[in-house]
Amino acid sequence: MKQLSTLAGVVASVFAFTSLSTTAVVAQEAQTASAVVSPAKKTLADVEYRLPSTIAPTFQHIHLNIDPDNPTYSGKTNIDITVKTPTKKVGFYQQDLTVTSARLVSGSSSFPLNVTIGEYDINWGESQDEIAPGKYTLEITFEGKVNTSSDGMYLSRFEETNYIFTQFEDMHARKAFPSFDEPNFKIPYQMTISSPEHQEIVGNTPVEKVTVENGIKTVVFEKTKPMPTYLIAYTVGPFDSAEISGLSVPGKIYVPKGYADKTKFVIKHIPEILASLEDFFGIKYPYKKMDFVAVPNFTHGAMENVGLITYRDSLLLLEDNPSVTERSRPLNVIAHELAHQWFGNLVTMAWWDDLWLNEAFASWAASHTMKTLYPELNYADRIVQEGAFGADASPTVKPVKKVVKSQPDVMDGLGLNYSKGESILQMIESLIGTEKFREGVQNYMNTHAWGNTVADDLWRALDEVSDFNLSAMMKAYLEQPGYPLIHISKDGKLTQSRFHLAGATVEDKTWAVPLKLTYQSNGKILNEVVFIDKETTVLPQLAEADWVYPNDNATGYFRWSIEPAQLNALLNNIDALNKREKKNVLYNYQALLNADQVGVDSVMKVLNSLSKDDDPAVIRAAVGVLAEFSYLVNEDNKAAYAKLLNQNYMPLLNKLTLSQSEQDNADVIRLRNQLYSLLGTHSNNDQLVEQSVKIAKQYLADTSSVPSGIAGTAIEIATRNSEQGEQGTWFNTIVEAFKKAQLPNVKSTLVYSMYFEDKATVFKMLDLALTDDITPANTMYMVVRVARNLDDHTLLYEWLSKNKDALLAKMPDYHVSRMPEFVSTTCSAENLEMANAFYAPISETYQGMARGVEIMQDESQQCMRLKSAFQADFNAFLNEQL
Ligand SMILES: [Zn+2]
Repeated sequence: MKQLSTLAGVVASVFAFTSLSTTAVVAQEAQTASAVVSPAKKTLADVEYRLPSTIAPTFQHIHLNIDPDNPTYSGKTNIDITVKTPTKKVGFYQQDLTVTSARLVSGSSSFPLNVTIGEYDINWGESQDEIAPGKYTLEITFEGKVNTSSDGMYLSRFEETNYIFTQFEDMHARKAFPSFDEPNFKIPYQMTISSPEHQEIVGNTPVEKVTVENGIKTVVFEKTKPMPTYLIAYTVGPFDSAEISGLSVPGKIYVPKGYADKTKFVIKHIPEILASLEDFFGIKYPYKKMDFVAVPNFTHGAMENVGLITYRDSLLLLEDNPSVTERSRPLNVIAHELAHQWFGNLVTMAWWDDLWLNEAFASWAASHTMKTLYPELNYADRIVQEGAFGADASPTVKPVKKVVKSQPDVMDGLGLNYSKGESILQMIESLIGTEKFREGVQNYMNTHAWGNTVADDLWRALDEVSDFNLSAMMKAYLEQPGYPLIHISKDGKLTQSRFHLAGATVEDKTWAVPLKLTYQSNGKILNEVVFIDKETTVLPQLAEADWVYPNDNATGYFRWSIEPAQLNALLNNIDALNKREKKNVLYNYQALLNADQVGVDSVMKVLNSLSKDDDPAVIRAAVGVLAEFSYLVNEDNKAAYAKLLNQNYMPLLNKLTLSQSEQDNADVIRLRNQLYSLLGTHSNNDQLVEQSVKIAKQYLADTSSVPSGIAGTAIEIATRNSEQGEQGTWFNTIVEAFKKAQLPNVKSTLVYSMYFEDKATVFKMLDLALTDDITPANTMYMVVRVARNLDDHTLLYEWLSKNKDALLAKMPDYHVSRMPEFVSTTCSAENLEMANAFYAPISETYQGMARGVEIMQDESQQCMRLKSAFQADFNAFLNEQL
């Protein structure tokens, strides 16, 4: 699965006051928190949470009667099982369904089952007679109701038309039909779906047979290969479709009616992505067809269902030739989902505690594919661990590998699994080399194809092709939360401790860390790999060094620090480092500041040095870090900050100009967008405001005339600086353009860029979130946007208190549980108090919300601690610049 919604940037910017939490949200994987906690809450620890291993399913047939225009449906399922020991009870999963009959059949004998609901959604069918070991068919009939919550079988209403979609990862297949809903039960399935004749019905496999009777069409799909329930998918609705040609198997993109011509860009690139992955794995795409579906209301970014991959519509419906930076996300998500067809689908984790590995690997493979196929998008420069360090520094963070019993356990910290997991795979790749890494992965795939594995199986396969004891390194990184800070003293003594933020208390730990050193000794630059696994290590060669940089090519999952004199020497030789390494020096010093290991002056020293670099990617890192200090900008120092920006950075933006040209590479475009956003927000420059109003109006008149990266900032600046009397007009014009727009990315640029602070318009923005114009999956982002706009959250909570029931009922469960973290994280004590008062009465009512509140409180308090620690130094720095 992948959550990289087009709105992630909106959410991310809410947290822009500090790098601590930004990426935790950007990289966030969508998982759904299930519905309201059942009334009888029990301690999860003392009950069995999985089906007994004494009964094994071998094949399941499911027949569903679905009409998208009817919220209820019925079904029947036959599950072939093998009973291994005598029993009176058969367990299966089911949630929110009504089981109308259940029996066990063997030849001519039949055992009626009396079904009761147990813990963890396990239902027990009890027979009066003892069931002897042998083969049986478990027959269950049931009725259900579709939901609108983006999980299980759900309804999506789009442009007055109903569509049915499914999202079964992680534990949601049980909401659609009874099953052995655990990933280790990998068996063949066969689906039959009956629906009104005019509907298009698509499943995991090609169609075997279609019959029509009394206006009802019944489609029997071919039997699947062995697969887990979470990868089953089907969809019903009046879709249009477009052919994907050039694949090793047949493939189509299904889209809501009228949108087939918006798929040209992705159709052009899907075949090369698939071919590149087939080449990487050395195994052809393992299924008989590969269809994509554009889902108009999808909480998650995308889902790798076997043969029927679902995507948020914004990832597939694009302009024919999107600008270089707008290509990056759709291509990356497609590569991620296609990588899962092998890693996750062909070879599946035995249980949800290794889901992290699925996601880590798919993320790694997507990055690898992007570097191979699209070097112009500069994935090689991305420092992926920066996406994990923030969340992984939290005192309440859990290790990647942890006990998972229920759905909220899977969800907790899942975002971190992607980025930390990918970082750790990258660290292994950089240690053993890409070719060895690939050889290990190919061996692992061939050994375990169509089966289930645990993470150790992969480490073993990689150990076999390398000279390192990777398993030991993995254990420390995956079974412990957090990561090390390695300090290098002038005398060559290295000490490691657990990195933590200023004022936080954490339990100390030690890691086995591969350090890839670069240092200069007697005028020569040397490279060396050392493993440190103790608290203290002495490397005498470093005592002699002129300078040292301990993170060759910036692939290590750790922070580091050196003495001030060593930093000066390193900065004097900074061009000995590549651009990844230069960025790493800066991000690392910013982190050291947040850990209270160095002062504001040290970070600014690195920042000033890198802001003069020739490479736009390096300058952009400097601008990004400077922007993160914005949380220290207030009424008293904003004029000084504006002056600094106008003096040092406006000339750079003037040089780049605000118009994007065909010649601009991805780094130049990203630097321009970043500079424009920082200067537009804080430089208080009349000329820039005037230019922004012009660009915003031009975009509103013709949304294809300005790239969205520029247009979003222009709308924000124009609306932020609009006069009191004009705000209503701006709002109306933007909403009108939103309603007319067809492309999902244009729609989000329009409404999620608005910046209003006056009560009437703030309430209009929030009310808009509750209308049908904003889909449930996008609703929370509107609230996030408003929270971001307001320094003082009084208006926000005033509206929330009045509208909380409507809002929480509309939002998908996953967003409900994450709302505290996304909407309410703040750097103000007053806002935090209002947030606590708002969530206190409801946080136990919604599953997962209490954890969201805990994260929100952690991050808010951390921001306030940092603010009080660094405000004076930051002010002093600004004064020095004037
Ligand atoms: Zn994934």
